[in-house]
Amino acid sequence: GDILRKRKIAVLGSRSVGKSSLVFKFVEDHFIESYYPTIENTLTKTVSNNGVEYECDIIDTAGQDEYSILNQKHAIGIHGFVLVYSVASHNSFELVKIVHDKIVSFTGNETVPCVIVGSKSDLQRVVTCEEANEYAKSIEASWIETSAKSNVNVGKVFDLVLTEIEKRAPHNQGQ
Ligand code: GDP
Repeated sequence: GDILRKRKIAVLGSRSVGKSSLVFKFVEDHFIESYYPTIENTLTKTVSNNGVEYECDIIDTAGQDEYSILNQKHAIGIHGFVLVYSVASHNSFELVKIVHDKIVSFTGNETVPCVIVGSKSDLQRVVTCEEANEYAKSIEASWIETSAKSNVNVGKVFDLVLTEIEKRAPHNQGQ
């Protein structure tokens, strides 16, 4: 079609799980071994999904911990969420659940368009596929494992989040 749909996507999760690396690899197709500790950054990329063009503003947040109060700009006006844990850190997986619950209570929606991402799949895992997949199902989210370093499933994350957004609000947020 001729319509360019704008989508705001927030990337959340513990510090150093690889949020910046994932976003940077997706937008710039480049992996940096030692990236800056993230200060918040928004990157834009236009992608096509199911024959529709989307201009994605991807907010790479600085990272959260269990005590962080969800920043309202990471919830209000956000179309979809990418919640990242590292497959090598069980704490980071637990934090994803906490952040998800904060988004749900903040937005007042029972479910939110969301992809659960197990990053650093090139490392030795401590978070099993079963527990991650089961959790994602329980919150009606997609789940995928990625490696920004080995270039595995990076683009897939953003295909999935656009699909999750479209599932809940088909075409009604055009422009
Ligand atoms: P952020 O704080 O969540 O944005 O994390 P960064 O993107 O800054 O990454 C934190 C550290 O993990 C950096 O040293 C990255 O090089 C490393 N890292 C990021 N992605 C991967 C990955 O896919 N595999 C491995 N092995 N390391 C990664």
